[in-house]
Amino acid sequence: MLYLVEHFYSIQGEGRYTGTPSLFFRFGGCNMKCEGFACEEIASDGTKVIGCDTVYAVNREHFLQNWTEINSANELLKILNNYNLPHKVDIVLTGGEPLIYANEPVFIEFLEALHANGHKITFETNGSLFVDFLKYPIYKEFIFALSIKLSNSKELFSKRVRGDVINSITTNAKEAFFKFSIDSKSITPELQNEISEITKFAPNTLVYCMPLGATKKEVEENSEPLIEFCKEKGYCFSDRLHIRVWNQNKGV
Ligand code: SF4
Repeated sequence: MLYLVEHFYSIQGEGRYTGTPSLFFRFGGCNMKCEGFACEEIASDGTKVIGCDTVYAVNREHFLQNWTEINSANELLKILNNYNLPHKVDIVLTGGEPLIYANEPVFIEFLEALHANGHKITFETNGSLFVDFLKYPIYKEFIFALSIKLSNSKELFSKRVRGDVINSITTNAKEAFFKFSIDSKSITPELQNEISEITKFAPNTLVYCMPLGATKKEVEENSEPLIEFCKEKGYCFSDRLHIRVWNQNKGV
C-alpha cells in the first residue's frame, strides 16, 4: 500500500529536463523533515507546519487525511490513462520521498507497467535510501535526480549523505544527476566543501544548483548569487520554473 498526494500534468520545472512535458505523481511520506528550509503550510486543523516546500507531502501527522491510499498498480495506471495524452508522456515520481516505497509490490508493478509502455521515468529523490538493483533490475531503466540535502536542511549529515547509496544509484541507474537547493545565505566558502563531500561518491555526475524558495520572490532573490556561484565553480544552474511561473510547488 502507498499514499498518493497529488498528480498533475505540467512541464518539468527544474533539473536536466526543465521544460519537458511530464506527468507528475507525488507520493506521501519522507524519511526526513528538512525543517531548515522553514517553509510554512497551514493544516486543515489550523496548525502551522514547518518543513520543506512540499511539507504537505511529508508530514503524516497533519496531512495524511488529504492523501489517497493506493492498493493496486491499476489505480495509478487508470489515473495516467484518464489524462488521455496523445503521446508517451514522461513520468516524474516525486514526493515527499518516492523511494520509501521502493520495495512495495504495488509500486514495482506500477513501474514495470510504465516501463513496458515506453514511458521515460524520472525519480526525484533525496538519494538517501538504498535501492535494490539486484532484486529489482527494473530500477536500472530509470533516471534519478539526486537532490541530496545540504546542511541548510538541518538534517544530520549521516542521514542525508549516504555515500554507498549515491554510488550505487549512479553506478547502476540509466542516468543520474545531482540537484542542490541553495539560498544566497548558504553561498559561503564552506558550500563548495559541502558539495564536494557529496559529489566525491560520484565524481563524473553532473551537478545542478537551483535557487531555494517556496515563492517566486524567494527564488528570484536567490537566483543571481547562485548563478555567480555556478559560473565560478563550473556547475549548471537550474531554474525552478514552476515556482517562478506559478508561484508555488503544488500541482500546476
Ligand atoms: S527530503 Fe525532500 S521531501 Fe523530504 S523533507 Fe527534505 S526536502 Fe522535503
